[in-house]
Amino acid sequence: MDAKILQKIVHQFESPTYIYDAETIQRQYTRLKNAFSGVPKLRINYACKALSNISILGLMKNMGAGLDTVSIQEVQLGLHAGFPPEQIIFTPNGVSLEEIETVAALGVQINIDNLSILEQFGAKHPDTPVCIRINPHVMAGGNTKISVGHIDSKFGISIHQIPHVLRIVEITGMRINGIHMHTGSDILDVEVFLYASEILFSTASQFKDLTFLDFGSGFKVPYREGDIETNIEEFGEKLTTRFHTFCKSYGRELELAFEPGKFLVSQAGYFITKVNAVKQTTSTVFAQVDSGFNHLIRPMFYGSHHEIENISNPGGKERFYTVVGYICETDTFGNNRKISEITEGDLLAFKNAGAYCMTMASNYNSRYRPAEVLWLDNQAHLIRERETFEDLIQNQIMVDVTEKTIA
Ligand SMILES: *Cc1c(COP(=O)(O)O)cnc(C)c1O
Repeated sequence: MDAKILQKIVHQFESPTYIYDAETIQRQYTRLKNAFSGVPKLRINYACKALSNISILGLMKNMGAGLDTVSIQEVQLGLHAGFPPEQIIFTPNGVSLEEIETVAALGVQINIDNLSILEQFGAKHPDTPVCIRINPHVMAGGNTKISVGHIDSKFGISIHQIPHVLRIVEITGMRINGIHMHTGSDILDVEVFLYASEILFSTASQFKDLTFLDFGSGFKVPYREGDIETNIEEFGEKLTTRFHTFCKSYGRELELAFEPGKFLVSQAGYFITKVNAVKQTTSTVFAQVDSGFNHLIRPMFYGSHHEIENISNPGGKERFYTVVGYICETDTFGNNRKISEITEGDLLAFKNAGAYCMTMASNYNSRYRPAEVLWLDNQAHLIRERETFEDLIQNQIMVDVTEKTIA
């Protein structure tokens, strides 16, 4: 988005604020759809833990997306935003059988990744079709080599345990209607992903009642210049061909599903903060903004790189700054970044702030969570108000301690 527009929005809604560009989300969605235009039944389920504002969910629904959820609360948000239950898939990990049963009763597609839960669920609800999440033990490494994923990952049912699944199906009489994988790592190399897909296909061929195959996500987007991006068009072409061959041998046209989060929303987001102070120490120039890991934790949590731009002085003379927050912890957003000259009061924009940013925000240091704005049709729509003091104390209870004696 244009620096002038970002500035204007923040002048209206103040700082710090998350701004999302609807056009970018639509463009990414269309790219993915077009890459798989050769698949008759394609389903793109947006992984809403990336960015779960109900207006974003509404936008996704309007484009034709389904929803991928990991908690009953995300399911409820999806229903609230207008998704019919049959367009929602529930892919939890480590949740209780009761939560899975409650979600299934809503009519949402269940995805189970645990043999014990699968058996209990199947015994009680043999008529509810269930998808299983497998662990293909394939991870994309930092290079083009195929490496074996964690044998002890907490996610998925190991492909070596499929005989157990088949026995559970036989004993309970339950129906497996989908096979799912989500390796959780970035797809840096199309060949690696296709290799994992072969494992999914060979697993799928052992189940007779399938209606869909779900390849999860892992589509990588660039965070800085030179970053590798998943070649979605090449990937689409190759997987489509392979998928057709599989469906032919399976004897039925199946649905092909994906669950992108980051791919759809990461680049659409901008987090705008204001510089409270510029502070020079012996060897560093700090720019201190009105935020911290309470609002954007990825740099500190994962070491993620977010580009930082001074939108108050675009094209200005560049200098080196270490951008930090106002939290009483080390909260470095970027070390020695080249940024156009900063004056106190300037607005800094963090890029790629659409995915896993606002959804990971907290109230640490008793600060308010930021406002969120959707830029749609050349208009700024406030989609979440900045929190207030009322929000901070809303669920707190003040006990009267004046009459109590402390022994
Ligand atoms: C988080 C998650 C996704 C989305 O991953 P991205 O890297 O954001 O695309 C998809 N599926 C499942 C099951 C997830 O937990």
